[in-house]
Amino acid sequence: MPELWIASNNQKKRNELLRLLEPLGVTLCTPDQLRAPFEPVEDQPDFAGNARKKAELLATMAGAVALGDDSGLCVDALDGRPGVLSARYGGPGLDDRGRLLHLLDELRDVPAPRRTAHFVCSICVCGPDGSVRAAIEQRCTGTLLTAPAGEGGFGYDPIFVPTEFDGDPTRTFAALDAGTKDRLSHRGKALRALVAQLPAVLAAGA
Ligand code: IMP
Repeated sequence: MPELWIASNNQKKRNELLRLLEPLGVTLCTPDQLRAPFEPVEDQPDFAGNARKKAELLATMAGAVALGDDSGLCVDALDGRPGVLSARYGGPGLDDRGRLLHLLDELRDVPAPRRTAHFVCSICVCGPDGSVRAAIEQRCTGTLLTAPAGEGGFGYDPIFVPTEFDGDPTRTFAALDAGTKDRLSHRGKALRALVAQLPAVLAAGA
């Protein structure tokens, strides 16, 4: 089976990626299988640039095809913040919960109709020489609650209500089952688009 390396150290995000990629008939490898630490510097101004940096670094370290993903939440009332800073929002020392509460505090005076946001997922696949073989970006729009709800997911899931969910309009990503999140999410959409291209992506240069 061909190998695909996954350029992420975020365990919860990686679990979603692995869940979505599992049916593909590829052997999925992760950075902890390398001898050297995988420490990409996410210093690009956009998601696509960071996804590319992660994929490029891991592909060249592993000498194999690697997938990099960069994602985040863009809030309209905050001019797109936290955006590429989603994983670090509010400064060092905060965990997922702390970042979410920081964001809620910033939005405390923003009324419901203006609490619109979208998640973005950018994916880049690089060959062993670091050259780009595929680049995809997808989004998922929604609104933000004023308090967390739901126990599942990670990151900003407990306050994000996806627009496309046709059930209870107050159900956050954290209150949806994994299959429903995958169907609606930015990451699910991006990976489904990639799956269609994957045979050609893996075969290129073989
Ligand atoms: P990355 O590892 O640089 O892509 O960081 C992504 C960050 O964006 C995560 O740490 C979360 O804070 C946020 N994020 C991205 N995707 C999701 C999601 O599906 N649910 C909740 N938060 C997300």
